[in-house]
This record gives sequence, C-alpha cells and structure tokens, in this order.
Amino acid sequence: MSELDEQLEKLKEENQELREKERMYQLVSKSAVGAFMYCSFVNRRVCTLGQWEDFFDFEVREMNDIFKLLESVDESSVSGLRNILFLEAHGKESATTECLLKGHRIWVQFCVKVYYADGGQPTDKIIYINNITKYRSQNEELAYMAYYDSMTGLYNRNYFVRLLSEFVRKALEYNQIISIMIIDIDDFKNINDGQGIMIGDELVQQFGCFIKELCKNNIIACHLHSDVYCIAIHDPNKKACVEVIHNAIQKRLKEPFKLSSGKEISITVSIGVAEYPDAATSALELINCAEIAVFKGKSLGKDIIHYFDVSVMEDFMGTIELEDKLKKAIANQNFILYYQPQYYSGSKKLRGVEALIRWQDEDSHFIQPSVFIPAAEKNGAIIPIGKWVVEQSIKQYAIWRRQFGFPFIMSINISALQYKKDDFVDSVVGNLRKYGVSPNEIELEITESVLIEDFDAVYEKIKILKDCGIRISLDDFGTGFSSLAYLTRLPIDTLKIDKTFIDTVLTDSSTRVITESIVNMVKALKFESIAEGVEKEEQYQYLKEIGCDIIQGYLFSKPLSPMQMEGILQEGKV
Ligand code: C2E
Ligand code: MG
Ligand code: MG
Repeated sequence: MSELDEQLEKLKEENQELREKERMYQLVSKSAVGAFMYCSFVNRRVCTLGQWEDFFDFEVREMNDIFKLLESVDESSVSGLRNILFLEAHGKESATTECLLKGHRIWVQFCVKVYYADGGQPTDKIIYINNITKYRSQNEELAYMAYYDSMTGLYNRNYFVRLLSEFVRKALEYNQIISIMIIDIDDFKNINDGQGIMIGDELVQQFGCFIKELCKNNIIACHLHSDVYCIAIHDPNKKACVEVIHNAIQKRLKEPFKLSSGKEISITVSIGVAEYPDAATSALELINCAEIAVFKGKSLGKDIIHYFDVSVMEDFMGTIELEDKLKKAIANQNFILYYQPQYYSGSKKLRGVEALIRWQDEDSHFIQPSVFIPAAEKNGAIIPIGKWVVEQSIKQYAIWRRQFGFPFIMSINISALQYKKDDFVDSVVGNLRKYGVSPNEIELEITESVLIEDFDAVYEKIKILKDCGIRISLDDFGTGFSSLAYLTRLPIDTLKIDKTFIDTVLTDSSTRVITESIVNMVKALKFESIAEGVEKEEQYQYLKEIGCDIIQGYLFSKPLSPMQMEGILQEGKV
C-alpha cells in the first residue's frame, strides 16, 4: 500500500470515528431533558442542543441572539438572569438562577458555565436550561402548607402563633393591647354525627371563609382545629375591637349557611376572649386562656361570649384536678355503692333501693356524685364508672336476693353517654345472666337529658331493654323540658318526681297543682310515681293523700352503706 493510500485509509478511519462521536453526541443531547446553548468565544460560533424548542420559539444563529433569552423570561426574572448570563465579564466560572418563562407558567433553571484558557481568556460558554416547574410547585405547596390551613385558607396554628408572637413583641415595645378570640361552633358534634362529616367539613370551610373576610393587617385568624377558630386583634388605633368582630359574626350567623347540596344550616357560636397583657404575655398562653374562657362559657350555655379572668382560671384548674383524680380513682377502684330505700306510701313496705355511687378519695373523704358525675360525663370516665355501677349493683342484688329470700327492685342510674355505647344493652343483659338475676327486679333510671340528645337511638335501646323485661324509670321529672310527649311514647314503668317539687309542695300552690297533675297523669298512664327527697312527715302525708305510690327520702332513710342496708333487709324479712 502506498503512503498515500495509508494516509487515506487513516483519514477514513478517523472520519468514521468522528461520525460515530458526532452521532453519540447528537443522541446524548437529544435525550437530555433540558436544552443547551453553546457559545465559542474563539470563533464566535453559537448553537443550541437538546430540547430547545420546548422552551423557546426563537432560533439562535449568532452571539447576539443570547439577548433574546432576556426577552423570553417574565419581567420578575430579568434581572436575575442578566446577572448570570455574562459571567465572562467578571471572570467567573459558573452560576445558576431560577426564572419564570414569559407567557407560560413554566419555571426553568439557567446554569451558566464559562471555560477559560490558561491565559485567562474565556474560550467557551454553556448555558443549560432545565424545567423545574414541578419542583417549584411542590415547594410552593410545601410553603403553603407551612403557613395555611388547606380546608379554610386561613393561617394554620403554627404560623398564626408566629405572627401572634410578632404582635406580642410589638405590643410589649409600645405598651399596647392584643385581644384573642376563640370561636367554637355550638353543637358541632351533633352536626357531624347527625348529618355526616362532609356537611361538617363544608360548614367549617364556609365559616372559615367568612372569618377570613374579617382579616386585615391588624386582624389575623387561624383554623385551630375541628370547629374552632382563633382571631387576634392588634389594633393600637382601636378601630377594630372584639365588639366589632363579635357583631359582624352575630350578623352573619343570622343567615344560614347554604351548602352545595342545597341544604341550609344555621349555627350559633361560643366565643372566649383573652387579652394581652392582662391574661398572659406569650402567644401560646394567650390562646390557652381564650380556650379556657370559651370552655367556661360553654358550661354556662351556648351562643355566649365569655371573657377570661382569674376566676375562670381557678375554675378550670379545679376541673383538671378533678379529672386527674377521677382517672386514678378508676384505676384504684375507689368507688362504693350506697343504697337508698324506697317505700310504698300506703303500706310503708320496702319497694326497692336506688344504688347511688360514692367516691372515697385517698383521705377517705366521700366525694358526692353531684361533684364528680358531671366531670366524668365530660371526659368520658362515666363509661368505665357506669359499667362498674351496673355490674356491682346487679351482683349485690343477687347476693341479697339469695341471702334474704325476697324480691325487691334495684334501681340503677344510667348516664346519657352509657346509652350511646353500642354494647350497653348487651352488658346489662350479660350481667343479669352472669349473676342469675331476673330482669323485672332491675330498674334503669334515665333522665330527660338522655332523651333530648337523641330520642330515636335511645328509644330503640330502651325498647329492647323493656322487651327483655327490665324496668325503666324516668328520673328527675320536672327539672328538664318535661315533654309530656315522652310519657306517651316511652315504654316506662316509673316516673320520679324531682325533689325541687317536693321541697315547695306544701308552701307553693302552683307546685301543688303541678304535682297533683303529674300524679294523676301517671295513674292514667298506669305507671308508678315516686316522690324523691321527702324529708318531712307533712310532705309524706300530703303525697300519700294525692295518691303518690312510692316515697324516697331522708324522712325514711338516707342512702346507706351495704352493711347498713343489710340491717334494713333483715328487718324486711321478719
Ligand atoms: P338522683 O338519681 O336523683 O338521686 C337522688 C339524689 O337525691 C341522691 O343524691 C340522694 O342522696 C338525694 N336524696 C334522696 N333523698 C333526699 C332527701 O330527702 N333530701 C336530700 N337533700 N337529698 C336526698 P346523690 O346520691 O348525691 O346523687 C346525686 C345524683 O348523682 C343522682 O341524682 C344521680 O343523678 C347521680 N348519680 C348517683 N349515682 C349515680 C350512678 O351510679 N350513675 C350515674 N350515672 N349517676 C349517679
Ligand atoms: Mg336517680
Ligand atoms: Mg332524681
């Protein structure tokens, strides 16, 4: 082969290698997700590679076309891009910036890299453009989530606390006042339970939107949790104040909320107010105090605005202490049942006993049920306590029934929450079986509050219990709504006339008229009537005269310990 042929052959090989490299480089740049712009300072050549058309609608032919990049980004991004496009002017090597492309909602990252010769002269520049929209929107979403509540669009608790802390800092510096309002939708649980969570959520969202409308620079609000919102007002000029916001809320609530299903819901709210610096001096403490105020307000009724002061705090601490003690008492089984006898008014024979719970605390003091039952109902402790009462009273009855050999009635007080438990009926019936007690010797006392909350659900359970042969008694009659409709609809056996009637029956003529009507009505409906809290002989004589069937009260006996009660039962036997 001649030398020329050899050189030709080598050239061909090199050419082939070059074509392969060219192809490889074309493929790599085509498969890159971004776009590139290459500039050579040596021969002033420019070209674009990768997915250029995905980002820009102009072609690049000469060095000056680089300026077209500045025209293609949103105004807000121009100066950032200009700062990095001409790095070579400052001898820098690389830099990046994020820009929004004009006309699209596309965020891109520009990376500029400049290469220099040994002498410091720029030789080449590569601009890499990468789509970062997804990453940006994820970040934006994260940022949103960090500040806002997704359901209502109000601030979330964390960010609100940060802003409130800022209010507090300013108020401290300038000796100003901040008001905190906690707004809690009344009976929200009923809406959620009765109408479904979707309706509840939509209501929370709509009310949240309304609260947002009240916000300005000096008024901020957040969705604290569930159906609870918090507003903070820091207005040194006193244009906005609790009263103004309260009035706006009241005005709005005169109209119902129109839900997407077409349903309309009217609500009331309870509001707790605490003020800086009187109530507390930190953001979290202020929110806490307003929460305590709303909690106190709710215990007094609904649709109420309640201001925090020292007495509210003292009250609250008392409740907490009691709730703590209750938890321990359940664990340590510090409860005992007392029994109060009930007698037939005519024969004065024992009709039955009412089981009444007592709590013996660590110092052996008796705590009365009127003190701890409401707290136990509030924190749910009534469920384990009530279960214990049911089992203990049935067990005790079974022992006495065997020991003394005659039947009587064991009355057991049942709370509204207990009826709501799915296993309530089973647990009563199960205990009767376990201790071999006949159902018609057990009477369950219900109060009107049980019925008011959810008549239908309770009615179903009462009917099942009644069908099992268990007796039902309506307790404290006359203290609640005393709807006569209950009396005709409910399968009850006994009606207990509340002590408040008995207290004034001798002195107040209208009480007398009502008591006599109740006794007559009970007779007509073929129930039994029990007068509660009979303390005086005259009361007893009068009640006997008007035909009240059974008497329970201190006149005959106070509630007795099991041992004392055994004494009475012993007498009953002989
Ligand atoms: P209640 O069911 O109406 O019970 C009658 C209350 O009146 C009892 O108070 C009893 O000691 C009291 N009493 C009876 N006769 C007289 C009297 O002549 N004069 C006076 N001043 N009081 C009399 P107690 O034992 O303090 O119970 C208060 C309430 O606590 C009960 O009212 C009942 O609602 C509730 N309770 C008691 N034990 C239980 C229980 O085991 N479970 C539930 N859920 N509630 C209970
Ligand atoms: Mg009772
Ligand atoms: Mg009662």
